[in-house]
Amino acid sequence: MLVGNPLSLFAAGSTFPLATGWLGAWGDVGYLVAAVLFIFGIKGMTHPRTAVRGNLFGSLGMLLAVVITLTQVTGVISLATALVGIVLGGAIGAVVATRVQMTQMPQLVALFNGFGGIASVLVAGAELLRPGAVETAAVLVDPRVAMFAAGLAGLIGAVTFTGSLVAAGKLQELQMFKKPFAFPGQQVVNAILLLGALGLTLWMLSSGAVWPFVALVLAASLLGVLLVTPIGGADMPVVIALLNSYSGLAAAAAGFVIGNNVLIIAGSLVGASGLILTSIMCKAMNRSLGNVLFGVMEASGESADADEVYAGKIKATSADEVAMMLDGVQRVVIVPGYGLAVAQAQHTVAELATLLQSRDVTVEYAIHPVAGRMPGHMNVLLAEADVPYEQLKEMDEINPTFSQVDVAIVIGANDVVNPVANTDPSSPIAGMPILNVHEARTAIVIKRSLSPGFAGIPNPLFAADNCLMLFGDGKQALVDLIAALKDS
Ligand code: NDP
Repeated sequence: MLVGNPLSLFAAGSTFPLATGWLGAWGDVGYLVAAVLFIFGIKGMTHPRTAVRGNLFGSLGMLLAVVITLTQVTGVISLATALVGIVLGGAIGAVVATRVQMTQMPQLVALFNGFGGIASVLVAGAELLRPGAVETAAVLVDPRVAMFAAGLAGLIGAVTFTGSLVAAGKLQELQMFKKPFAFPGQQVVNAILLLGALGLTLWMLSSGAVWPFVALVLAASLLGVLLVTPIGGADMPVVIALLNSYSGLAAAAAGFVIGNNVLIIAGSLVGASGLILTSIMCKAMNRSLGNVLFGVMEASGESADADEVYAGKIKATSADEVAMMLDGVQRVVIVPGYGLAVAQAQHTVAELATLLQSRDVTVEYAIHPVAGRMPGHMNVLLAEADVPYEQLKEMDEINPTFSQVDVAIVIGANDVVNPVANTDPSSPIAGMPILNVHEARTAIVIKRSLSPGFAGIPNPLFAADNCLMLFGDGKQALVDLIAALKDS
């Protein structure tokens, strides 16, 4: 996934026509090489084995694009000002990146998307204010195209900015964003805001005035909030992917405004890859995009009461008991979830797997596409612990085999193993495919309490006959289990 848009950097160097500065036409050749590197970067990221190389290609492409753009800083701002901005922004980014907890990464990604959006708004707005900027858009056949692109950058960028702030608040589980919020007629209000913003863009086109841009940015900002506040439960992965795509589209539109080819290309790549990711996430959750964006009112039905689901049915177990159970089993499937990331237990779980394998147990990891808080979260986590890719099994591959699993060990996963998704159409996760852990011969669930997961609903798996709860922090429980296995 391409994350966020540091692309606004290019705005500093954009002048019309293309490829000015001392590099001349070579600047365009360099941009082309950067674009090719972006494409190889994305290709590399399609497989964990080539992902690091892909990331390197993408970064090199970005470095090249930034350097070329810096050679073109003429007539807009001084090179010194651009460098001060880069150093300041870089320093803030470095501090934030080093301080952020691994589990807060998804919120950071959401904020990056938002910053990409607001950068496009600012670039388009600044360009509109620059005297004679639109008329000098020689790269475009008609300067009105630049004006229209500015409207689109303002609209999409502002929606991305405020929508991403709300999404980050939801991922941070801030109280004010925790419950989906919607009011009757909200979709009509959204439609009015959208049409109003498009109308203001046309007004800008016909009058050449700049003030409608401010009004459309305000309308789009409100639209961004209203679009994301009603979305809750398990639908956030789709929203994050979609906002990522929007940030790219806004950047591409800004590229048209300032006539910067590499910004158009990179923005389009982010937009397209984000849309593909959105479609993958929708499929993973068995939802249509329309249903995610507009179906919240129907999906927010009352879920069962926790007492009703759990009372008298929970069986707690201990590390020693689980170690005894694991003695002589043939096949164990580990199901990681968000709690594994919170506990930072990836290395410990890999140690457990190695220990079991040394006793001739087949160990696999069942990976749900929306486990954790960001696309690919579990893959990243387990790759950090050098878990071999061959042991990671996608949901479609492992689901039909759960009935042949001796012990399924669920570590900090909840929603992605909640059978309610199949049985209760009023549940916020209704229709989402789940890992069929309930079909395993025995399920061991490691978590600290009976607290719900992201969707905020109880999980009948915990009360099932074949399920035992090993209460505790994910990492500590695994450390205890490894010690008990070694003693047994
Ligand atoms: P869940 O959020 O459903 O559950 C996580 C569980 O982890 C909690 O019930 C919690 O229980 C437990 N936990 C927390 N800390 C620890 C710890 N230190 N040790 C052990 N357990 C811990 O996680 P899933 O991965 O099952 O599901 C992901 C959810 O997030 C889905 O609803 C998905 O839609 C949503 N989501 C996913 C995104 C993505 O892109 N992947 C993006 C946004 C949302 P307890 O407190 O009792 O320990």
